[in-house]
Amino acid sequence: MRIGQGVDIHAFGPGDHVVLGGVCITHSCGVVAHSDGDVVIHALCDAILGALALGDIGQHFPPSDDRYRSADSRVFLRHCAALMRDRGFTLGNADISIVCEVPKIAPHTAAMRANLAADLGCDVEQISVKATTSEKLGFTGRGEGIAAFAIALLIVA
Ligand code: MG
Repeated sequence: MRIGQGVDIHAFGPGDHVVLGGVCITHSCGVVAHSDGDVVIHALCDAILGALALGDIGQHFPPSDDRYRSADSRVFLRHCAALMRDRGFTLGNADISIVCEVPKIAPHTAAMRANLAADLGCDVEQISVKATTSEKLGFTGRGEGIAAFAIALLIVA
């Protein structure tokens, strides 16, 4: 077995939606990001890469590379899934926590889990997505940004 963790944070900025777990959620602002700013997928990618000891998402998809401007982060996740399979592993399970005051996450977790499971080639039951506020404390509490934390367990295929 291999285990990895990932963290991602993006600041809120101009816009009218956020993308989380591949789900486009209408919101009063967007996120500042080179790609689509999907903190759920970025954290999950780093967890998988961490379990494989293959660096981080910034090394595989450099922000300086214009190919990834406004990129659909699901492409990153499918790439990480391929790296996992190539090395003889399959996902045991992944658990993701989103931290923000808004938008409301719960109505969208089922769709996020379905997207992530599809990209990873696993069952929805292997993917957990949950959310919490930070009780108005810190940058997430002040509504300045959104954070996600992920853990992934890989098992030999
Ligand atoms: Mg990111």
